[in-house]
Amino acid sequence: MSFIELHHVKKEFQGKEGLVSAVNNVSLTIEKGEIFGIVGYSGAGKSTLIRLLNGLEQPTSGEVIIGQQDVVELKGAKLRDYRKRVGMVFQHFNLLWSRTVRENIVLPLELEGMAREEREARATELIQLVGLKGREEAYPAQLSGGQKQRVGIARALANKPDILLCDEATSALDPQTTDEVLELLLTINRQLNLTIVLITHEMHVIRKICHRVAVMEAGKVVETGEVLQVFHSPQQAVTKRFVQQELLPENEPTDQSIDYLIQKYPQGVILQLKFTGAQSKEPVISKVIKQTNVDLNVLQGTIQQNQKASFGTMLVQVTGTKEEVAAAFAYFKEQEVGVEVKHHE
Ligand code: ADP
Repeated sequence: MSFIELHHVKKEFQGKEGLVSAVNNVSLTIEKGEIFGIVGYSGAGKSTLIRLLNGLEQPTSGEVIIGQQDVVELKGAKLRDYRKRVGMVFQHFNLLWSRTVRENIVLPLELEGMAREEREARATELIQLVGLKGREEAYPAQLSGGQKQRVGIARALANKPDILLCDEATSALDPQTTDEVLELLLTINRQLNLTIVLITHEMHVIRKICHRVAVMEAGKVVETGEVLQVFHSPQQAVTKRFVQQELLPENEPTDQSIDYLIQKYPQGVILQLKFTGAQSKEPVISKVIKQTNVDLNVLQGTIQQNQKASFGTMLVQVTGTKEEVAAAFAYFKEQEVGVEVKHHE
């Protein structure tokens, strides 16, 4: 038997326009010690699935079995006990602003009634584990986003949970901090053999740390597999879109990915252009507009230049048909200007 088993789980809500199947006949198994990712666009049913796993919602039908225990049947004190075994990490950290790092971390232990000495010793251990030594007495407002999330992770681990559920845990962080927090989750997973389930709409989060992934669309799991296999040969259209989105910065944009970008960002695709010295900015920008017919707005630019050469990056917003945007990509390539698509929700 697997550590987490969902069998034909359904969760319906009464919406304004009738019944909504937030989770629709989902069956999944997750092994002990696994890092399992659930990816899907907004509204796919990810949060509902997480709430079913931590006992905050009861399924309309189906089974949720965790550590051989039927979670659906739990009530009262038993449900509360179960919920202590599930650590939660949130996108916006959910810290108490009037409490220090140490006080935030010991809070669940205080609520448990753990003796002061014991909980302080545990807090010291956790602070060490998440790399916050020296910041114990700081308040959340004095911390960077990455440090706040470290506090969130330490607090989630305070009760020595069996599962860590991460709900868009890195979505509010910049790329470098995201990598650091993912690295920390990976370390915790290895050191404690802790099962981690994370939900995200960002495929690079999945690629970096997950062992397996489930792709959700309209309440259903449409594809599950080893991360490498899913990246290598995505089967479903929605998975292909996620994989494409992730591969775009390093790879040639395909017609399909440009089509996808235009549809996703009808107000304009934001690109970061990187000038490395061989080109001069002005002609590149004016010529790309002239030659490809795209509509291009410069949003931000810190380019150093002389008549012949430019260095630095700039952000531009590009609108146009699929052919025009594809031609712009091709032109930038020809001019040896680096292009990266910036994600904006
Ligand atoms: P995701 O986390 O992937 O964005 P959610 O699980 O939040 O998706 O939502 C899935 C669907 O269920 C959406 O259509 C959402 O509007 C609906 N939904 C979620 N929770 C409720 C609720 N409490 N009442 C009514 N509809 C809900």
